This record gives sequence, structure tokens and C-alpha cells, in this order.
Amino acid sequence: MAAVARGPLGLLLRRRRPLAGLGPGPRRHRHKEKWATTAPRIPATRLALHHFDMNYSLHLKELWPSVRVGLLCEQKYGALLNNFSGVDHVTQELELLSATDFVSEASQKAQQLQLEVGRWESVCQEGSGECGTVTHTESVTHAETSPQLRASISSNIKCYTFPRGDITRFRPARPDMLGLLDYYLMDAASLLPVLALNVQPDDFVLDLCAAPGGKTLALLQTGICGHLTANDVSMSRTKRLHQILHSYVPKEIRETVSVTSCDGRDWEQVEGGTFHKVLVDVPCTTDRHSVMEQDNNIFHKRRTKERQMLPMLQLQLLMAGILATKPGGEVVYSTCSLSPLQNEYVIERAIEIAETEFNISTRVEDLSHFRVLFQDTFSFFSDCRLGELVLPHLTANFGPMYFCKLCRM
Ligand code: SAM
Repeated sequence: MAAVARGPLGLLLRRRRPLAGLGPGPRRHRHKEKWATTAPRIPATRLALHHFDMNYSLHLKELWPSVRVGLLCEQKYGALLNNFSGVDHVTQELELLSATDFVSEASQKAQQLQLEVGRWESVCQEGSGECGTVTHTESVTHAETSPQLRASISSNIKCYTFPRGDITRFRPARPDMLGLLDYYLMDAASLLPVLALNVQPDDFVLDLCAAPGGKTLALLQTGICGHLTANDVSMSRTKRLHQILHSYVPKEIRETVSVTSCDGRDWEQVEGGTFHKVLVDVPCTTDRHSVMEQDNNIFHKRRTKERQMLPMLQLQLLMAGILATKPGGEVVYSTCSLSPLQNEYVIERAIEIAETEFNISTRVEDLSHFRVLFQDTFSFFSDCRLGELVLPHLTANFGPMYFCKLCRM
């Protein structure tokens, strides 16, 4: 992405040089070495929690203590049904356990709200004077009457969760007679970016950072994702993506998916402006993992630089996603972090760079109806400046999941 590197992104990419006279001198170096060998090693999980305490208490204010407890407790899963395997008996089994499909529930809620809006409109047109009463009693707010309300919920995706406060675990997935697994266990909030993408029949779809493949699998569950490209720079993670496709998707469908291993930042050079829908699910500080697991923890001292460069990598990937999209097409950006630096800030910078460097106008789509439709399943942050953010909460311990949709004009 040479053009990006020359512009404002290039400026951001430039290394900061130490100021003259302030570089580390030999005495300090000697001292540092000794300190490094004697100082107790602080676990990466504790560094992460300390970092979050400092930053998220400012951002989330009084919500932070409950989000913090959620992050430190066992997360909840959703069971994404595999429509390619025989699912009827699984549906019955899950419903007997009181699990429900939150996607179809949201879809029904959307239909109900549409009916209410229709009723409200006809009452207003008749001029019966009840218009105000209906609005008030049925709480049909502007957000709820959004025209995207129904369109955004794909009824083919089915994902079961246990009710709020119920921490029952799902049994591991089982193979059907053909060897395909019956469901895929994932953070249910991870489905929201896929639902926001709102794939339509015949869309060309790119999943730019696809591995290990949870969202790719969800995209395929729509049953209408005929031209899907799943890309990930990591060969080992792409292998896992292949394994997931193998375990869940029949051969004839699998073969329609184009799996690539490019650096997503170079995508424009490969295939620019050709996709109707692009999902940019970027690498991030994976906040839940960072406070719970030592392995592969981005807060490990030796990964400090990599962590600090994350917003830059995210911005470059989102720019590549925008450039890969056709005019009129849509991009969904997502992270599993609470950090505004990795979320809203990246969106704002990308909009600015697209405009100034590439003369591409983008518009942030309003997704506030997601808050209305999915409020029974997830806890949303009500003060997110751009996009939507699912907050972990003990009664609904999903997320964090940030997602924001851009439309390329
Ligand atoms: N979408 C995946 C899913 O639902 O299973 C999770 C994606 S994970 C949050 C981010 C992914 O970005 C990682 O698999 C990582 O290998 C990939 N990645 C990191 N840098 C990348 C780059 N420059 N280009 C493409 N993929 C990249």
C-alpha cells in the first residue's frame, strides 16, 4: 500500500528518534542490566489489568468496576448452529435446556417494531389525535424506526445462548452422520459484526483478517454468501481456518471459498474496489485474553512495541478494507477491545485519510437499532461516539466487541 505509506499514514509510520543528549548512556545501561536481572517479573496479565485500570476507568467511568469483574470471570458462549449439518434435534436439545436463538428473537422484535411503526403511521395519517399517545406508550423511538431495522438481521444465522444470569455451559460440538460438527462455540457478540455486514445474495464478500474463522463460518451460515474470500496473514492461523471449514462446511461449499494468506495491508494491490462487503476484524489487545492468559499475551514486556503499533496496523488494515470496497459497498470494522484508541480513533482517522489521500467519501452507518434489538442478550455501552460496543457484564458476560460500519460513497 505504497500510496498510504507516502501520505499521513507515512508520517505516522516514521520512527521517533531519541532527542539529542537524552539517549541511554553507558552508566544507565549498566544499572538497567542489573535491575533487569534482580527485579521481580510482573506477569503480563497484571500489566494488562493495570493498563486497563488506568485507561478504562477514565473512558467507562462508573461502569468500569462491573466491566472489570466481567473481564476477570468466565466468559459466556453462544452456540452458532451449523446449518450444513442436521440441526433439528440440536435445536430441540438446546431449547429443552432453556437456551434461545438470540438472532431469531431479534428478528421477531424487529418485525414487531415495524408493525408498531406502521400502526403509528396510520394513526397519524388518520389524524385521530392518538398519535402522541401511541408514541409514548409503545416507546417507538427514532432509533427503533430505522429503515435498516429489519434488513440488518439475517434470519438464516442461528445462535443459541443461555438467558441472562444463567452460566450453564454448552456441551462440546458433536459430528453428524457425515462428520460435520453440529455447532460452533464462540463469543456470541462476535456475530454482531457479521449481522451488521448484512450480506445480500450475489454479494462479493471479503473477510480480510479471517483466521481462525468464526466469522467466516457465520458468513457461510447465511447461505447466500456465494463469493467469499477469507484472508489472513498468518499461515498457522490460516491452517486453523481450513480445519474449521473442513469440520463444518461440505466440500462443494468449501470449494467456493477462496482462502488466501496475504498481508491485508497490501490488499489494494491484489484486488482493489471489487467487493460489495468487507469485514475488517483486526488484531487488537484482545482485552479478555490479556487479563486472563499469560500465553501469547500482548502485554508481555517483549511485545510492548507491537502493542503500541496496533492502532497503526488497524488503521492500515481498515484503509485496505475501504480501498477493497466498491463505491456503494460497505465495510464493517471490529475489535474485541474496549480501547477508544483502537476503536473510534481508528475509524475517525480512516475516514479522514480516505477523504484527503484518496478522495473517497465514507459515511458511518447508524447501528443504534442493534442496541434495541439485542438488549436482552448483550450489555451495550450507551456513550460510544461512533459504532457500537458490547460491554462484559456478569449477567451477560460476552464481549468486549466493538463494531462500526462505513459506507463507501
Ligand atoms: N475474524 C477472526 C475470527 O472471527 O475468527 C478473528 C481475527 S483475529 C481478531 C485477527 C487476525 O488478524 C489474526 O488471525 C491475525 O493473524 C490477522 N492479522 C494480523 N495482521 C494481519 C495483516 N497484516 N493482514 C491480514 N491479517 C492479519
